[in-house]
Amino acid sequence: MSITSEAIIRWLQRVAQILHEKREYLTQLDAAIGDADHGINMDRGFKAVIEKLPSLANADIGAILKMVGTTLVSTVGGASGPLYGTAFLRAGIVTTGKSELRENDVVEMLAAMVEGIQVRGKAQAGEKTMLDAFLPALDVARQADLDEVEMAQLLNVCCQAAEEGAQRTLSLLATKGRASYLGERSVGHLDPGAISASYILAALAEAYG
Ligand code: ADP
Ligand code: MG
Ligand code: MG
Repeated sequence: MSITSEAIIRWLQRVAQILHEKREYLTQLDAAIGDADHGINMDRGFKAVIEKLPSLANADIGAILKMVGTTLVSTVGGASGPLYGTAFLRAGIVTTGKSELRENDVVEMLAAMVEGIQVRGKAQAGEKTMLDAFLPALDVARQADLDEVEMAQLLNVCCQAAEEGAQRTLSLLATKGRASYLGERSVGHLDPGAISASYILAALAEAYG
């Protein structure tokens, strides 16, 4: 089965809903190792995305995702705005003209998102960033046998891997972004961007299912 444009729209609506619900929690996480704005930033960004969705009712998936990217760049600010913005812009580029995504398209989309985040932020695995949720998701997606795996199963393993990766940031030392200013004191706190990344992937699994 494939992910349709309608499912992509449901995904973005669900992301906005979750980020709104988790706004305080994400902001508290950022208060511990950053500047206490991650929940506020993400809620603002996806609220703006949702407002633009009606004008894209008949657009292809690439156009929808590119809109998400440009909207996040212009509304989120901070570190996460350009990073998530670039991730969704790249996702939009690899899905240009598509009205549905197959399993291999999902793997390509995740790879493009990770590449965008890395080109922009220069972080690697284990630096206590959003990549510590995205990279495990991409790893399991790449390991999946795409001739055998069902879309629902693929999305579920990806979201599970992202969630586990986000939880593992608790014990990591931050070496990128604001949290790196804390040095050793960043250990023992979850990374807010990794948690928001895990929500974004969980919402995709939910929107499809
Ligand atoms: P700011 O730090 O500018 O206030 P946010 O609080 O919205 O921005 O986002 C912080 C999150 O951005 C971090 O939790 C981390 O996951 C992510 N981040 C910061 N720098 C990088 C980077 N270089 N690469 C990947 N992710 C990063
Ligand atoms: Mg912040
Ligand atoms: Mg900030």
